[in-house]
Amino acid sequence: SLFSTVDDKAEVREYFNNEGFNRWNKIYSDSDEVNKVQLDIRDGHAQTIQKILNWVEADGDISGKTVCDCGCGVGSLAIPLAQMGAKVSASDISDAMATEAASRAKAMGIDNAKFYTSDLESVTGKYNTVTCVDVAIHYPTDKMAEMVGHLCSLAEDRVLISFAPKTWYYDLLKKIGELFPGPSKTTRAYLHEEAVVRNALEKAGFKVSREEMTGTSFYFSRLLEAKRV
Ligand code: SAM
Repeated sequence: SLFSTVDDKAEVREYFNNEGFNRWNKIYSDSDEVNKVQLDIRDGHAQTIQKILNWVEADGDISGKTVCDCGCGVGSLAIPLAQMGAKVSASDISDAMATEAASRAKAMGIDNAKFYTSDLESVTGKYNTVTCVDVAIHYPTDKMAEMVGHLCSLAEDRVLISFAPKTWYYDLLKKIGELFPGPSKTTRAYLHEEAVVRNALEKAGFKVSREEMTGTSFYFSRLLEAKRV
């Protein structure tokens, strides 16, 4: 419908302020109150984060550079980037997530990162690096190109984006998953065609400079780094 995006967004916000917050806050921590599936997802996600940190480190000193992390969750990427000296501005559509990220950062004595509540479409400003990790799964297919374009408009140098790739295999897994949704209510999940993401990056004047794929049993994430040409 005409309002599907609005509904999607309201649903995502509601989920990540409530049961989604509890589920993901546990996954993105070292809590042992996780099941095998959640442990697998924690491991896959940690691999994606580490790959990004390795790239950032390989490019030299990030200290003093600005980073905008869209859909920051509990700060799994924003916090280590701040620890590397970046000036981090991180936001999440979920107030519970942004608040948790801020309190984790505060507990670690970090003062070069700010966290606030915002959907990524409303984020403004210019930053050296813009990151958006494992957020696009909540993003409707028909809005994906526009979303990538918006991330690029915020980035002076570099964009890092990850998404669940739409391949026949993952499409099948998703369909099987939908047949057996399990006990917890979750949100709709969207896989994205890599070509759509690449075309949007290119259209915005960016060129893919690095790529990775991380797949465990229950986690899969295609990661692209693109630099302004
Ligand atoms: N990027 C973080 C990380 O990698 O640790 C969190 C990933 S988590 C799977 C997805 C996050 O995206 C959630 O915290 C959710 O609230 C946020 N999110 C979903 N849709 C969003 C939107 N339209 N704008 C901003 N954040 C959004």
